[in-house]
Amino acid sequence: MNVILLGPPGAGKGTQAKLLVEQTGLTHVSSGDLFRAALREGTELGMLAKSYMDRGALVPDEVVIGMVMERIKQPDCAIGVIFDGFPRTIDQAKALKIEMAQHEKAIDAVLYMDVAREVLLRRIAGRQTCKVCGAIFNIYYFPSYKAGICDICGGKLYQRSDDTMETAQRRLDVYFEQTMPLIEHYRGEGNLREIDGRQDIGQVTEGMMQALGIDIAESP
Ligand code: ADP
Ligand code: ADP
Ligand code: ZN
Repeated sequence: MNVILLGPPGAGKGTQAKLLVEQTGLTHVSSGDLFRAALREGTELGMLAKSYMDRGALVPDEVVIGMVMERIKQPDCAIGVIFDGFPRTIDQAKALKIEMAQHEKAIDAVLYMDVAREVLLRRIAGRQTCKVCGAIFNIYYFPSYKAGICDICGGKLYQRSDDTMETAQRRLDVYFEQTMPLIEHYRGEGNLREIDGRQDIGQVTEGMMQALGIDIAESP
């Protein structure tokens, strides 16, 4: 099964992707995480991406498409992928469809979640991510037990450099212009499922699992 998480910055895609991975065993592919990893490694791709990310602009299609297509050729993606933050333009969606078709695969579901703009801005401004394990917290909505420390692994939490109010505003504008057309695109393909992103994290996961037609596993 291959699933796309679609929604504006701050909607909860990364958070839900991690929970869906626990539930389904699918592989999480986040284009934003791939760029941040490239940047940490100091690669040319990382440096190039940073110049766009810091401005809140999209990285050019050919760069993103090349990177994600390489990633999904890895063996861990054969079982199925949860795409998070990709595709973000119609051209990216088309490239993904062609690549998948070449491997006799298809997108089974597009889970679209939305939240009001003020809430998105607050979620982005309050986001904290673990440097070590990548767990996502929020100082307003989902704080870690100890300030600045990851509940799961004890790692340090950091704020992304593109999570400033100014850049967040720009990213939301870019989303409305360049990514929103994907909603109608996938509605037309018949696999769009809408989930109310304003709900609690657990309720959103439940809605997504229902939309995928999978029973939710009891947590151990
Ligand atoms: P968020 O979780 O807030 O939506 P991401 O981590 O997905 O943020 O993306 C951070 C930045 O990385 C984007 O603002 C953009 O500059 C770049 N980026 C990530 N995915 C893509 C993509 N599919 N196409 C173009 N740029 C992307
Ligand atoms: P995205 O990947 O779509 O940009 P994230 O999953 O990183 O979004 O979530 C953005 C911020 O909002 C994070 O700080 C996260 O802890 C918080 N968050 C995610 N889902 C919810 C929710 N349902 N209710 C409240 N806060 C949430
Ligand atoms: Zn951690």
